[in-house]
Amino acid sequence: MRQVYMDYSATTPVKKEVLDAMLPYFTESFGNPSSIYTRGLESKEAINAARAKVAELINANPAEVFFSAGGTESDNWAVFGVADAMKDKGNHIITTKIEHHAMLHSCEFLEKRGFEVTYLGIGPDGRVSLEELEAAITDKTILISVMMVNNEIGTVQPIKEIGEIAKKHGITFHTDAVQALGNVEIDVKDMNIDLMSMSSHKIYGPKGIGGMYIRRGVKISNYLHGGAQENKRRAGTENLPGIVGFGKAAELAKANYEEHVKHCSTLRNYLIEEVLAKIPDTYVNGTMDYRHPGNANITFEYIEGEAMLLMLDSMGISVSTGSACSSTSLVPSHVLTALGIPVEKIHGTLRFTVGDFTTKEDIDYVVESLVKIVTTLRGISSVNEKKGW
Ligand SMILES: *Cc1c(COP(=O)(O)O)cnc(C)c1O
Repeated sequence: MRQVYMDYSATTPVKKEVLDAMLPYFTESFGNPSSIYTRGLESKEAINAARAKVAELINANPAEVFFSAGGTESDNWAVFGVADAMKDKGNHIITTKIEHHAMLHSCEFLEKRGFEVTYLGIGPDGRVSLEELEAAITDKTILISVMMVNNEIGTVQPIKEIGEIAKKHGITFHTDAVQALGNVEIDVKDMNIDLMSMSSHKIYGPKGIGGMYIRRGVKISNYLHGGAQENKRRAGTENLPGIVGFGKAAELAKANYEEHVKHCSTLRNYLIEEVLAKIPDTYVNGTMDYRHPGNANITFEYIEGEAMLLMLDSMGISVSTGSACSSTSLVPSHVLTALGIPVEKIHGTLRFTVGDFTTKEDIDYVVESLVKIVTTLRGISSVNEKKGW
C-alpha cells in the first residue's frame, strides 16, 4: 500500500546528509566536549561549528546560540528564566491563547505561584492585534511571548512589530520559532527578538535537540543547573551527535530555503484547491496571506475528524486532527477554539502538513482517498437527509 506522510509539523524524517554527519560522533569522535585533551577539543569544535550554522540561519552571533533538549525545554527556559531574573521588576506576562502547550502550561504553572498572565486572543485571520498587545502592557510586565508561526493553523504573527513594541516599553520579548525555522525568514536582529526557541526535529534533524537564541545582555536565569557547559548557561554533557545533526539540518535549511518554500507552498496550494473543488462544505482555517508554506488546516463539515484520521491511516496516510495534539484526547483544539470555530466543526478538522519529500502523486492519492472517505462518512451521517445528499 502507498504510504503518505502528511504531518511534517509534528516531526520530520532525518535527512540522509544529516544522519551521515552525525554518525561519526557516536563512535570514533565520542570525546566529552568538556575534556581538555585533543579528543575532547575536537568534540567542542564540532559543537561550535554547529552553533555557527544555527546562528547563520537566524542572523545571530554564534555566542548568542545555546543548545537545549528541544523546543519544549527552550520554551520552559524562557518563561521560568525571565520570571526569575526579572521578579523584582514585576510578575506580569503577556502571551497568546494559541501558543504551544510548552508555553501555555509553563505560564499556568507560574500563575499558581503568584504570577499574572494575559492570554491574547486572535482575529478571524489567526493573528494577534498589536493594539490589544500594547494595551495589555502594565508597569509589571516582564515578558511578552508570541509564537512566530502557529503549529496548527500555520499563521505567521507580526513578530517584527511586536518586537518593536516590546523594545519601546523595555520588556523582554520571546518567540517560539519552532515551526518558523526554515519555513519563514528569520532575522533576530531585524525582528528585535530577545529570546527565541528552536527545535531540530521539525527541520529534518534528530529529535531531542534544539536551541535558544539569547540576545547579548538579556537577563535570564539558568533553567538546568550543574556543569559549566554552554558557556555556563545550560548544564549537562552535550548531546554531541544531536548538536552536529541540528547544525547540518540548519545548514541545509539555509541552503535550500527558497526551493523548500516553493516546493511546499505549490503542493499545499494544490491540495487545498483540489479538496475545496472536489469535496463540498470544506474550508480552510486561518489566513492564506501570512502562512507556513506547508500548512493546510481544513474543516470538513458534518464529519468526525477522528473517524477520518483512522480511515486515512488505514489507507497509509498520516495526518493530524483538530483535537489537542494527542490522538487519544478529544479536547477540542485551543487554537481552533480561539479562532472562534464551534466544537462540532473543530471535530471535523484535519491538519495536513507537507514537506520536502511530498510529491504531487502523494497529494492526488490523499485527495482521492478523502473523496471516498467523506462520501462514506457523510452517507452514514444523520445530517445527510437535511443536506439532501
Ligand atoms: C514541536 C513544537 C514544540 C516542541 O518542540 P520539541 O522539540 O518537540 O520539544 C514547541 N513549539 C512548537 C510551536 C512546536 O511546533
